[in-house]
Amino acid sequence: WSKKEGKNRYKFYSSELNIQNYKQFQLRHDLRMAIKKEQFLVYYQPMIRIKNNNILAVEALIRWNHPDWGIVSPEEFIFLAEETGAIVEMGKWVLRKVCSDHRYWIQKGFGPVYISVNFSGIQFYERDFVENIKEILAEYEVDPQYLIVELTESLLIENAYKAVEDIQKLQAAGIKVALDDFGTGYSSLSYLKNFNIDIIKMDASFLKNILTDKTTTIIAKAIINLTKELHIKLVSEGLENWEQLSFLRENNCFSGQGYLYSRPVPLEKIDSILEKGKCRPVLNNTTFK
Ligand code: C2E
Ligand code: MG
Ligand code: MG
Ligand code: MG
Repeated sequence: WSKKEGKNRYKFYSSELNIQNYKQFQLRHDLRMAIKKEQFLVYYQPMIRIKNNNILAVEALIRWNHPDWGIVSPEEFIFLAEETGAIVEMGKWVLRKVCSDHRYWIQKGFGPVYISVNFSGIQFYERDFVENIKEILAEYEVDPQYLIVELTESLLIENAYKAVEDIQKLQAAGIKVALDDFGTGYSSLSYLKNFNIDIIKMDASFLKNILTDKTTTIIAKAIINLTKELHIKLVSEGLENWEQLSFLRENNCFSGQGYLYSRPVPLEKIDSILEKGKCRPVLNNTTFK
């Protein structure tokens, strides 16, 4: 590299950083008004039963349609919403939207649709977490058995006592509990003993490395078998290609979720997927982009 090039590269990086900082600054500032301005959207991505392509559930994934930045990913604003506390109201908004969409699917006669919603630690540790969920479900007359609450492992260690209690309360109401991003935290296995989990979502990093890393393959197989023996339903996240699907088929993994079946899509598009009731893996995984 010539010196000049080096300099330009530095400049490039620093202006990129400035844009990032500026974006973050603006997002943090605008977050407060985003609900009122109706800038949030919910996209849906199906989880698929591997052996018959049936739709097991749809996961709600929030998007922010920002006037300056376009569609912003939750990776860029969930942590900001957690910092400012806006996550609590945002979470309620998401659940209301999902419940209202669920009612609409029932009206259209799509049959039982299970809905999976993400909750972060800040939301989970709110005093009336379970009561708030039950209230919103009742408000929209959604049967609690159709709701899956996705929690992450790291959240469960924070206050294991409260976590055990609230998971029990959710399940007593008929709500199902999923452990998201499984395998990324530490001492994952002990959670299975201490918490009564209905669904485990194996983190996308497993499928990502399955074809190249032997240890990953062995661990993934172990997770598939372990969850089977424990009667926990396993969803494999980040399913992008046929090789990965073959692995899951060979090892009788229960369910997969990823671009190979469908990207997260807006309401209009999940509609036509739900109407079919099935979702097949597609070679061209940009179909639903
Ligand atoms: P997550 O719950 O683990 O969701 C999976 C993420 O992987 C989603 O990113 C999804 O779009 C993406 N994904 C799905 N299939 C594939 C694939 O085949 N390949 C790849 N590379 N990625 C795939 P997204 O939508 O950007 O969401 C990121 C995270 O933000 C979520 O991770 C979840 O932790 C959080 N999140 C999303 N919506 C909400 C929400 O309403 N509330 C809260 N508290 N968190 C949310
Ligand atoms: Mg999730
Ligand atoms: Mg995940
Ligand atoms: Mg995640």
